[in-house]
Amino acid sequence: MTQHNSNEYDRDVIVVGGGPAGLCAAMYAGRGMLRALLIERGLPGGELLNTELIEDYIGFESILGRELAEKMTNHAKKFGAEIVTDTVEAVRRDENGGFVVTTALGKTHRAPAVILTAGGIPSKLGVPGEKEYAGKGVSYCAVCDGAFFKGEVLAVIGGGDAAVEEAVFLTRYASKVYVVHRRDKFRASAILQRRAFENPKIEVIWNKVVEQIEGNKRGTTQLRLRDTVTGQPSTLPVGGVFIFIGFKPNTGIIKEHVTHDSQGYLITDAHMMTSVPGLFAAGDVRAQLTRQITTAVGDATTAAIAVEKYLAKRRENATVGAA
Ligand code: NAP
Repeated sequence: MTQHNSNEYDRDVIVVGGGPAGLCAAMYAGRGMLRALLIERGLPGGELLNTELIEDYIGFESILGRELAEKMTNHAKKFGAEIVTDTVEAVRRDENGGFVVTTALGKTHRAPAVILTAGGIPSKLGVPGEKEYAGKGVSYCAVCDGAFFKGEVLAVIGGGDAAVEEAVFLTRYASKVYVVHRRDKFRASAILQRRAFENPKIEVIWNKVVEQIEGNKRGTTQLRLRDTVTGQPSTLPVGGVFIFIGFKPNTGIIKEHVTHDSQGYLITDAHMMTSVPGLFAAGDVRAQLTRQITTAVGDATTAAIAVEKYLAKRRENATVGAA
C-alpha cells in the first residue's frame, strides 16, 4: 500500500454536515491549523434552525436557534474553516487509507480524515395518510409550520423531548394541542413534562397509537387511533398533526462497513473514531445516551482534537515507512 503524503490531499479533514457538531469541529480544526472543509447541504445551523428558542446551551439562558446558528457559523469561519453549500453523496476510502468525498454538484474532495456530523431525518409513522397529507396538515417541524395553524386543534405524536417541547411551542398558535403517546408515561425530561402538564391548552392522550390520518382537499381532519392496552379504536378530530417520534441517523453516505447499533447510530471509541480508521463521528449520528447541543459540541471538540493526533501519527508512520 502506498504511504500517505499530506500533499496527496487537498484538505486535512472534511467535515460532513453543518449543525452545531459540524461547526464546532470545523472551528477546532481551524484552531489546530488543519485545512478543514465543511460541506453542508442547506444553511449552516442544522437542527438549531428548526428550534425557536434554545434554553439549555450553557452560557446562553435563552437564545433564538437561528441566532445561535449564526454565531457558531461566524465563529467557525473566524478560525479559517471553509464552508461550502453542497450535498455529500458518498464517502469512500481510498487506497491510502484516506477518503474521497463526492457531492451532488459533481465535486470530489480528498482528505486523510473525515468527521461525519450529518445528523438525522425525522422518523415517519408509516401509516396511511401520512405521506398524502405531508405539507397539508402533517408536519415534522413546529417552528417551520406552527404559524399556519392559528386557532386550530392539533395533535402532537410522541413522548420524547421533541414532542413535549414542541407541543408547548404549538400552543402559541393552536386553540388546543393533544399529545398522543403510545405508553402511559413520557420519556421527556422532567422540566419539559412539567411545562406541558401546566399548560391549559395541552391534553395528553395516553396509550394510543395512530393508525390512519384522514383528511380532505383542505388538509387533515381526523386521526384514527387505537388503544395500546384495550385495542379499542377511536377517532380524534384535528386540523394538523405534528410527528416527533425520533429520527434516523444520516449514515447512508458512508460506503464502507461501519459498526453501528440496532437503530443505525454509529459506534465510536472515546476519541469519536468509528470502526473505520480516520472516520470520526460527532453529534446526532453517534450512538449515545442523549442528543443535545452540548453533547454535539462536546463530541465535535473531541473529534477535531483526535483528528490532529491521528494525522500526526499517520505522518510519523509514513516517515518511518519511507526511511
Ligand atoms: P426520542 O427521545 O427517541 O423520543 C421518541 C418518542 O416517540 C418516544 O416517546 C417514543 O415512544 C415515540 N415513538 C417512537 N416511535 C413511535 C411510533 N412508531 N409511534 C408512536 N410513538 C413512537 O426522540 P426525540 O424526542 O426526537 O429526541 C431525540 C433526541 O434529541 C433525544 O436524545 C432528546 O433528548 C434530544 N432532544 C432534546 C431536546 C431538549 O433537551 N430541549 C429537544 C428535542 C430533542 P416510547 O417512549 O414509547 O419509546
